[in-house]
Amino acid sequence: MHKGVARTKDDLMNEVKTYIQSAESLALIEKAYDYAFEKHSGQFRRSGEPYFVHVLNVGYILAQMHVGPSTIAAGLLHDVLEDCEVTSEEMSEVFTPEITRLVEAVSKIKKLEFKDEKEYLAANHRKIFIALAKDVRVIIIKLVDRLHNMRTLQFMPEEKQKKIASETLEVYAPIAHRLGISEIKNELEDLSFYYLHREDYYNIARLVENKKAERDAQVTKMIEDISQMLTEKGLQFRIFGRSKHLYSIYKKMKTKNKRFDEILDLLAIRIVTQTETNCYEILGYIHAAYRPIPGRLKDYIAMPKMNMYQSLHTTIVGDEGRIFEVQIRTEEMDSVAEKGVAAHWAYKEGKKYDPTKEQQEIEEKLTWFKDLDAVTQDVSENASEYMDALTRDIFEANVYVMTPKGRVIDLPNGSTPIDFAYRVHTEVGHSAVGAIVNEMLVPLNTVLKTGDVVQIKTSKQSVGPSEDWLKFVKTNQARNKIRNFLMKKETERKSEYVEKGEQMLRDEFRKRGYDEKEYVDHKKLEPYFSQFQVSTYVDFMYAVAVKSISAPSVVEKMTNSRGAKVMDTESLAKMYHRDGSDRRSTSVSKSGIRVAGVDSMMISLAQCCCPIPGDEIVGYISKGSGVKVHRADCPNILHEKKRLIQVEWDEIPEAKYEVNISILSHDRNFLLTDLVTVVSQYKANLQTINSSVNNETLTCTTKMTLLVNDAEHLRNILANLRKVNSVITVERTIR
Ligand code: MN
Repeated sequence: MHKGVARTKDDLMNEVKTYIQSAESLALIEKAYDYAFEKHSGQFRRSGEPYFVHVLNVGYILAQMHVGPSTIAAGLLHDVLEDCEVTSEEMSEVFTPEITRLVEAVSKIKKLEFKDEKEYLAANHRKIFIALAKDVRVIIIKLVDRLHNMRTLQFMPEEKQKKIASETLEVYAPIAHRLGISEIKNELEDLSFYYLHREDYYNIARLVENKKAERDAQVTKMIEDISQMLTEKGLQFRIFGRSKHLYSIYKKMKTKNKRFDEILDLLAIRIVTQTETNCYEILGYIHAAYRPIPGRLKDYIAMPKMNMYQSLHTTIVGDEGRIFEVQIRTEEMDSVAEKGVAAHWAYKEGKKYDPTKEQQEIEEKLTWFKDLDAVTQDVSENASEYMDALTRDIFEANVYVMTPKGRVIDLPNGSTPIDFAYRVHTEVGHSAVGAIVNEMLVPLNTVLKTGDVVQIKTSKQSVGPSEDWLKFVKTNQARNKIRNFLMKKETERKSEYVEKGEQMLRDEFRKRGYDEKEYVDHKKLEPYFSQFQVSTYVDFMYAVAVKSISAPSVVEKMTNSRGAKVMDTESLAKMYHRDGSDRRSTSVSKSGIRVAGVDSMMISLAQCCCPIPGDEIVGYISKGSGVKVHRADCPNILHEKKRLIQVEWDEIPEAKYEVNISILSHDRNFLLTDLVTVVSQYKANLQTINSSVNNETLTCTTKMTLLVNDAEHLRNILANLRKVNSVITVERTIR
């Protein structure tokens, strides 16, 4: 790539004809030239030159890179949509949809260039750039466009120069580097360096110039020696010295904190040869003739860099102890090192040209995608599957949208203006009433696309997020914020229930002759919350009001009126064995309950409270049907003063126990599916399920009968049911 400037159509066409001969392709490029020339007529750049000179030179540089005819045509047309009031429809009447698509993508990226300084984040900008491009050719056109703008930056006001230069350094040069296009990367860096740190630029340039003669002499001598040696071995090769570009010297001085002469002391030579085998051969001869510095040999032929770079690197000691860095590579590797992805893209005449296939090939060679944050974690065995997954993740998994000020917001694919609003600010989300995307009013559930400019309409009169939003939001952030808001609202609604629950409790205490003021009090009630499986006063009163906690059982528990006296084994034995014999044995029933001291007793689990292993239990000696085992706090035995007997769980492998639970939730689609999924994940058998919706509170009560292993199993299930979206409370119930 030389730095010549094209002035005429002939300048361009002569460059193109060095590698394109097909009449059809040449005609296409001329047509694009004429079209752009006409559309840009009357437009001028700051330099006073016609605007067309810019697009002509973008085409010209692309031709120097040997890109295909459609890419050159798109390069010539790249500013037509944006600057000439030509629509995509008009353009696709004259040019192929492929060329129109390329130009459209370039124009979209161009819109990104207006940035609010405070919102600016180079990493985001790079991501959105790549996501918008979707095609390597678009990135190449955009890089060449920027290169020509940088070459002609002197006509811009200083402030603009600095802004464009720093964007070039932070966004464009890294992308060129990722694509391995080092000739563009180096030139962009040096130009940016010049505009950003002019004093340093001149200092380094002067130091390089001062040393040049001396260094050139040393390099020339070494080149002669190596050339002679390799020629004697009958090898074909090119050998030359190379200089580091100024910005890389500056960067090394800054980041590695080295002196200028330390960096420049390294003399660099490159040998370009025919085949890979030649490369290793040459390396062998050089190592035989000169002492290599240990640890400096790098074989990027066997292990290419991420941007496809291949070469052998070694460092040797030459005459008078001078250190030389030698790079050895084939012509093809050399071209990839300069042109990167563009070298693979290079147009080959006569070859059946399939851009889709070609891009796929390039993407397979490039692993630079890996560097982007958003890529998938799972690594597939199959390389092309892996690339597919990566491409999907980068181009499809995330959308990058912007605030009107140009702040880039990345969101998961499928996100809506509501996701955007909550990402900007919680209050923006809570008060959102409408969305404007690309200057059009759209519904709040519109799916956003990369490049969309999104603005949220808010109103102080807004009633807040609606339950419906939960159906379409994509981000957890939005979902959680909406849910929290709705919960809070629900809590407010709950306060009505709290009053009702308090009233019911007071009535119950009064009815039984207690002074209700002694008992119906937050502090007094609190110690009992855990026994009723609730954690807050509000939940407690709510449960009383909806009767999932019975008011009588609260009274009994607090006044200890059950007076439950568990019969000891002695008296039990007496009751069953009136002979008073001291036969002591243990009875184990099929239900896994052991009653110490007695045998051959009929034992069963009470159907009201359904005790399970791990629960505190008590036996009730029924009339005629043996021992019924209840949970110790079952309201049905609270009044029992006699007939209670101590019982214990016994282990029965694989036994399952029935238990009843009740789930209070907000109503939503697929709620039951989600609840049942949890139950089945925990391998509990679902016996019955029924669900009813309260239209007044929009809540849903789901009752289930499950078969579980024990109390711990149940606790796990309850805990995970509580985590299901829109679930408010989950309780074990007593019939
Ligand atoms: Mn341009």
